[in-house]
Amino acid sequence: MVARALLTLILLAATPAATATSPVWPLALDTRYLTSNFMERRPGRYHAGLDFKTNSSTGYVVRAVEDGWISRIRAEAGAYGRAVYVRGISGRTTVYAHLAYFSDRIRARVDADRGRSGRYRVRLELQPGELSVTAGETLGLSGQSGTNGPHLHFEVRDEQQRPLDPLAWGFAVPDTFPPLITSVTAHPVRPGPRNERRGQDVGADPVARTVKAATGLAGTLDTLRIAGPVAFSAGITEYNDVHGHRLEPWLIEVRLDGEPVYRRCNEILYVIGSRYISLQENRASSCVLYLFHHCVTFVF
Ligand SMILES: [Zn+2]
Repeated sequence: MVARALLTLILLAATPAATATSPVWPLALDTRYLTSNFMERRPGRYHAGLDFKTNSSTGYVVRAVEDGWISRIRAEAGAYGRAVYVRGISGRTTVYAHLAYFSDRIRARVDADRGRSGRYRVRLELQPGELSVTAGETLGLSGQSGTNGPHLHFEVRDEQQRPLDPLAWGFAVPDTFPPLITSVTAHPVRPGPRNERRGQDVGADPVARTVKAATGLAGTLDTLRIAGPVAFSAGITEYNDVHGHRLEPWLIEVRLDGEPVYRRCNEILYVIGSRYISLQENRASSCVLYLFHHCVTFVF
């Protein structure tokens, strides 16, 4: 029996459309560049916010994006370093991490806590009315506490403290480069239980369609003639500015004969217990490799 299947891979840029009303920008800096975006893959987890580029230096004013109150203060050697959490009147929480300095009001609380505990580490949970903030109020100065390399880590969370894509919640940045599909590869799938183990679910003789990353794939590829179960992978690169920091595509969709069979949209990061959902993608040296092995299987 001969069957034909048309596989379509759709990508959307890293930046979704901005909301109609824009809150205060969290960083007093003219340029708005990202070094990481939402749900970028890190070892064993996803990146829960945006990393704003701070020109490889520290000391830029970090400010509250809306009226609210400070719900949490952290000062730790690792993790988010010096960080402030603001519960806004919208109900969302915004997080400002890796600060070099706290504002005087916040530092007074930190110093008092250290005086009581005698320890550097501070983990304060505050109540409404203790430390109110207004939109635009300085929370501290940007830095690199708890991490390597100066930048501002910024998060937006919903009322259940689930991270949201800040780009979709009023913090969009210019994005002039569309994502590129740099390769599409068909992999014969071997039968047997080993198929289910990550990294061992493709055959030894993949049929690759690869082009230069500078231009991306053409809209239509040559017809492949394939017999037996097959999985597909795609290499994808995404930047949104001239600095070329690699970012995550906001939306990836695979369609089979026009019907969606795989869709990943980085709108919200669901947290299961204390662990992030498991990762399905593998990283290749030249690009990000997405392997659609759960949903795209043809049997002819
Ligand atoms: Zn970050």
